[in-house]
Amino acid sequence: MEKYISGLNDAQRAPTLQKDGPMIIIAGAGSGKTRVLTIRIAYLMSQGIDAFNILALTFTNKAAREMKSRIASIVGNNEAKNLWMGTFHSIFARILRAESDKLGYPSNFTIYDTQDSVRLIGAIIKEMQLDKDIYKPKQVLGRISSYKNSLITVKAYFNNPELQEADAMSKKPRLGEVYQNYVDRCFKAGAMDFDDLLLKTNELLARFPDVLNKYQNRFRYILVDEYQDTNHSQYLIVRALSDKFQNICVVGDDAQSIYAFRGANINNILNFQKDYEGVQTYRLEQNYRSTRNIVEAANSIIDKNKTKLDKVVWTANDDGPKIKVHRSLTDGEEGRFVAGEIWEQKMQQQFNNGHFAILYRTNAQSRAMEDALRKRDIPYRIYGGLSFYQRKEIKDVLSYLRLVINPKDEEALVRVINYPARGIGDSTVEKLTVAANHYKRSIFEIMENLDRIDLKLNSGTRKKLDDFVTMIKSFQVLNETHDAFFLAEHVTKKTGLVMELKKDATPEGIARIENIEELLNGIKDFIEGQKEVDGARGALSEFLEDVALATDLDKDTGDDDRVALMTIHLAKGLEFPYVFVVGMEEDLFPSAMSMNTRSELEEERRLFYVALTRAEKQAYLTYAQSRYRWGKLTDSEPSRFIEEIKPEYLEYLTQPETNYRYKPMIDIDIFGDVDKSKLRQTKPTNGTPPKWVTDNEPKPDMNIRKLKPVNSSGSSGSSANLFDGKLVPGNIVMHERFGKGEILNLEGVGGDRKAEIRFEVGGIKKLLLRFAKLDVI
Ligand code: ATP
Ligand code: MG
Repeated sequence: MEKYISGLNDAQRAPTLQKDGPMIIIAGAGSGKTRVLTIRIAYLMSQGIDAFNILALTFTNKAAREMKSRIASIVGNNEAKNLWMGTFHSIFARILRAESDKLGYPSNFTIYDTQDSVRLIGAIIKEMQLDKDIYKPKQVLGRISSYKNSLITVKAYFNNPELQEADAMSKKPRLGEVYQNYVDRCFKAGAMDFDDLLLKTNELLARFPDVLNKYQNRFRYILVDEYQDTNHSQYLIVRALSDKFQNICVVGDDAQSIYAFRGANINNILNFQKDYEGVQTYRLEQNYRSTRNIVEAANSIIDKNKTKLDKVVWTANDDGPKIKVHRSLTDGEEGRFVAGEIWEQKMQQQFNNGHFAILYRTNAQSRAMEDALRKRDIPYRIYGGLSFYQRKEIKDVLSYLRLVINPKDEEALVRVINYPARGIGDSTVEKLTVAANHYKRSIFEIMENLDRIDLKLNSGTRKKLDDFVTMIKSFQVLNETHDAFFLAEHVTKKTGLVMELKKDATPEGIARIENIEELLNGIKDFIEGQKEVDGARGALSEFLEDVALATDLDKDTGDDDRVALMTIHLAKGLEFPYVFVVGMEEDLFPSAMSMNTRSELEEERRLFYVALTRAEKQAYLTYAQSRYRWGKLTDSEPSRFIEEIKPEYLEYLTQPETNYRYKPMIDIDIFGDVDKSKLRQTKPTNGTPPKWVTDNEPKPDMNIRKLKPVNSSGSSGSSANLFDGKLVPGNIVMHERFGKGEILNLEGVGGDRKAEIRFEVGGIKKLLLRFAKLDVI
């Protein structure tokens, strides 16, 4: 233990050795926050704290596993394996299973993934005969998700006229009913979606003081990594659990808060001092990860943000080479440059593939990179995108397995009841669904009781439904006595899935069968791995839970050597010697969808800060002058973020464009539900500033307004809702949807803080600041 503690610098050692009480470490990228958490846990254990009493929450399961194995190497495997370590979702899914009866759920509840949720919402929208072009299932899910993460239940929603009004304003007056139906249907199916795992945990802790007490006593020491990206629901869980002993240690970096779009609330960091008494605040300033050029360049970027805590980050590392900037004509050429550079660096420096990462803003950008890497025979792995478990053939197998564990699971049932085809048509499924909704039962229960409910089905159909029920029940019997591998293999054969796929002899068809084999191998591995875990028996239900909560990074076993391709969001917390940030273009990064308000732009800038600070030795920024987007060749301008870096840290490998540069207007507010991704900016000519247009004629009601241009230091409006302390009556603000208005009054505190605003159009409204996207102008 001594050895590890002496390997820390003084600033890191202090929080590591503070055993008790609330504490926060706010520090820039690469300063050792995660390292401090890891060693601190080992230290607590060396001081006699039982591993069972320590809860550590990480951003990915992979991060948890790494932390655990590092701790195991300090304190020994037997000790470390009892630590509670994982993502919020995985830890609280485990707790919910143990306590599910209190909330009326079965302990074998299914966890719906996003695909399941979107499909279900689509079905509900159809049943309610709503226009699916207005009620877009993905968008509706996003809305419901943000309600859940703010603990706005259906009941709370219907008690809140402002929320209803806001939804009505965006042409979705019946959103509340969709929300209600969605919640009912999930409950009836014995299913929770991702957000429920947090919402229901909150409900559990709030409604059952004895349960709260039990977990407060269990988790005497709580540690949270990446605290800046916790949402309100997560915040409340941590708050509740730590309330009794107040041994809470959170670490984070406000400059790396990049999940606001998913409800993360940077105020959780800013308010920490107020939430607990006697908080010790620590700062780490020395970066150990990156060269000085990278650290300084990253500092110069984040300096442009107005909403930030003042922090110093420096490094004793070498200057290192400058950040290389490369322009190419097309995205294809960009890919070839990156692949060529990797190839050359590997030769010259004897690097492995795993030393390189290619980071991008959107998953769609991976294609050009993949093509180029493949041509050079450079092995790579893509993280994110369509995950392995979401491929059709895999999801089909998993759906059967899910039904074995929870036959009420409607999404699984609807998916495979007639796949492979067994003559159960859509109209039959529709009748079953209507009956299930009517009797408030699951479809499977209706199928089990067909002789009691007259659905006007012919005897042939009845038999087919009976056969299906019998088949699933026979799997359930086998599951009592066999492990997950046996069952999965049996299911793929008995259901006819493999036979079905074998009919297709194309390379794609063969790849599908290989994927199923891969899934079976994965299950086998899982069972082997489980042998080491106390009390686990390699059961199917445990495997399914693992799959449902797997993040994309989890697949990385690290045992083969590949270049990593992923979005910047996924790269948080990771580090690589060589990092290529590709697609450094206006409208792509910063994203066209995130330039409407200052706070959105600042989040994009933080994202860039995260990207750059992943690099240890060398960073590249590349951009293309044209690329295919939405099926069209579009011209692009270099990202403003390149220019924001102090030139002394940059080396241009190609001449930057000289024909024209302009500062695009930002803080453009677009009213109504315009699909912003369809907008593009025209090129300015002498005397005319750029304009936002669609490729079609602009619609007359598309009210686009330009606010004042931003000067080069980037100081225009200030993001009001992040630091709402700045708001005072009299402020003129801009709201995303309601437009310009004047603040008349402010009331409430914390998450309940509201502003009464008189809008130029629409009159006086009261808005919850937690939700309202306001910019002071
Ligand atoms: P991020 O904000 O990106 O999550 P972080 O603050 O969590 O970064 P770590 O990942 O803990 O930083 O550390 C960054 C790198 O610096 C790691 O490789 C870590 O091992 C190394 N490091 C941290 N502290 C020290 C130290 N005192 N001596 C040597 N190396 C260190
Ligand atoms: Mg970290």
